[in-house]
Amino acid sequence: MNDADSSKIKSLLADMNIGSVNEAEDADIILLNTCSIRWKAEHKVYSELGRFKKIKTRRPHVIVGVGGCVAQQEKDEMFRRAPHLDIVFGTHNIHKLPDMIKSVYEKRGQVLETEFFDSPEPLVYPAPEEGGIKAYVNIMRGCNNFCTYCIVPYVRGRETSRPWGDIRDEVLKLAQFGVKEITLLGQNVNSYGNGSSDGVGFSQLIRKVAEVDGIERIRFATSHPKDLSDDLISAFAEVDKLCKHLHLPVQSGSDKVLSTMKRVYTVGSYMEKVKKLKTLVPHIAISTDIIVGFPGEGREDFEKTLELMNVIRYDSSFSFKYSKRPGTAAADLKDNVPESEKEIRLATLQALQKEHSMETNRAQIGKIEPVLVEGASKKGEAMVRGRTPGNRVVNFRGGEDLFSKTVLVHITGAFTNSLQGELSRLH
Ligand code: SAH
Ligand code: SF4
Repeated sequence: MNDADSSKIKSLLADMNIGSVNEAEDADIILLNTCSIRWKAEHKVYSELGRFKKIKTRRPHVIVGVGGCVAQQEKDEMFRRAPHLDIVFGTHNIHKLPDMIKSVYEKRGQVLETEFFDSPEPLVYPAPEEGGIKAYVNIMRGCNNFCTYCIVPYVRGRETSRPWGDIRDEVLKLAQFGVKEITLLGQNVNSYGNGSSDGVGFSQLIRKVAEVDGIERIRFATSHPKDLSDDLISAFAEVDKLCKHLHLPVQSGSDKVLSTMKRVYTVGSYMEKVKKLKTLVPHIAISTDIIVGFPGEGREDFEKTLELMNVIRYDSSFSFKYSKRPGTAAADLKDNVPESEKEIRLATLQALQKEHSMETNRAQIGKIEPVLVEGASKKGEAMVRGRTPGNRVVNFRGGEDLFSKTVLVHITGAFTNSLQGELSRLH
C-alpha cells in the first residue's frame, strides 16, 4: 500500500518537473512516507526527522514533509515535536501535495492536511519505474473490519472503492507504458464494489482488467478469508491472466485467538475454503500472514497454528510478533505473552515455514513454468531473474534480450526462497 502511495507521490512531483535523487543530503524536498502497522513507527520517524533537521540547518531552503499512517495519527503534534517540519499530509491527502509544496514555497509557513474524505480518491496516475513491468493499482482504500489488533481502519479510514472507470484508465495508461503485471491493492479486496454505483464486484473487476491488451498477469492483495467468495475461487480457474497464487492471511490457528482478534472465521471455515480452492486449482500457491503472541495466546493455541501450517503447507508466510497499537481494541487487553516467548514462537514458526517453503519449492523441480523476466540476477554473470505465476523467483542463464519477456523455463533446482532453471527448448 505504501509503495503504491510513494509511486503516486513520485508521479505528482514529476508533473511539477521535480525529479528524484538517491540521497536525502542532495534533495531540495524530502518526503517521508510512513507506515505504523507493526512497529514503533513514531519513534523511527522522529529519529529520521532529527537527521533531516541537520540537513535543513545546512541548507535552509530544503522542504521536509511527512505523510502516511504516522502523519495521519500524529497530525499537528508532529509540528510541535519537530518544528523544522514544513508539511504533514494524511493518507487521504496525497493529491494535495503539489498545492502544499507551492504554499510552503510562497509563504514559508507550515501546512497540515489530514482530513478524511468519504468519496473515492481522485485519480492520480502512478509513475511506473523506467522500463518497469510491474505496477500496483489501488482499487480501494480504508477498511471496515476493525480486527482488534489493527491500526489500519483508524489511519486509513472507512472502506471506499474506486470506480471501475478510474481503475480502467489507470490500467490502460500503465499498459501503454509497457507494464505487463498489475497487482490490485486493497485491505480487503473481496469487498470491492460494495456500495458503489457501477455494480462491478471484485471477480468482475479481475475479468475486466484481464481484457486490457498488454496486461499479461494479474495479482491481488489482500483477501480476507471471511469474504473469499466462490466466484473469486472460480476466477482462478477461468481467468488465464490471473496468477495462480493467493495470499490468504490466517493470523492464527486457534479459534479462541481468532475470535478475540475479531477475524469472523474459524479454522474450520478457513480450511474449507482452501480445500475448495485446491480442488479447483490443484497447483495454486498459497501464502499467509501470522501473528504470534497475541494477548491470551497460550502455548496450546500456538501449537494449533503450527498444526494448521502442517496441514496447509504454505508456500511462504509473513509472520510477526504481536505489538500493541494504541487506540485499537486489543490495546485494552493485557499483552501477556512475554517478549522472550514471542521470540521463541516466531523463530519456531519461521523454522517450520522454511521447511515447507523448501518442500514446495522442491516440488517445482522438473516443471516447465512461464517466467516473466524482471531483470538481471544477482546470482551471477549472464543470469536473469523472473517470477512464476505462483510468485516464485527463478534465476536462470540468459541475457538482456529476455528482459520483460515471458519465457518457458525448465525448473532444475530449489532453495528456500528461490528456484533455479534453464531456458526451455520449448521456448
Ligand atoms: N488487510 C490485510 C492485512 C493488513 S496488515 C488483512 O486483513 O490481512 C498486514 C499484516 O500485519 C496483517 O495481516 C497482520 O498479520 C500484521 N499485523 C497487523 N497489525 C499487527 C499488530 N498490531 N501486531 C503484529 N502484527 C500485525
Ligand atoms: Fe487490518 Fe483486519 Fe482491516 Fe486487514 S482486514 S486492514 S487486518 S482491520
